[in-house]
Amino acid sequence: MEVKSLYIHYPHCLHLCNYCDFYKKKFDSKSNENFFKYLIDSLEPLDQLMKSKSFKLNDLETIYIGGGTPSLWGENVIKFIKYFHKFFNLNFSPKEFSIEVDPGTFSQDSIKSLIDFGVNRFSLGIQSFDKEIFPILDRSHKFDEIKKNTRFFF
Ligand code: SF4
Repeated sequence: MEVKSLYIHYPHCLHLCNYCDFYKKKFDSKSNENFFKYLIDSLEPLDQLMKSKSFKLNDLETIYIGGGTPSLWGENVIKFIKYFHKFFNLNFSPKEFSIEVDPGTFSQDSIKSLIDFGVNRFSLGIQSFDKEIFPILDRSHKFDEIKKNTRFFF
């Protein structure tokens, strides 16, 4: 079977929202490097597993990085995707490359780096534009920060 898609679940978040059922852990200073190393160490076993199941990894058509809060992963997103392609000897030419981003966990420069690299779809974790409902959702950012932190998307 041919494989043309990659999903990565980045599990760390600045704050654990009260309604959330996703697998997540609280972000700390070591989270990014530990997760990067974990993924690198997983590639060889992943390769073995795919071979044992007769899966063939082809050039990726879609990449999705979800979470958690993958915008906290910073430059390691680009570093890992480059490493992944080199490891499996793939060309980098995804039709759709998506990443989830939360207000307060990225800058205009970090988004520009991702776009320059090839990310063409951002999933913004705003959850509500209703000022009354927003506090119930227990997000890490404040309602007034939504527009300020995401204005360059609109
Ligand atoms: S930031 Fe997203 S993934 Fe993290 S706890 Fe909140 S809702 Fe869940």
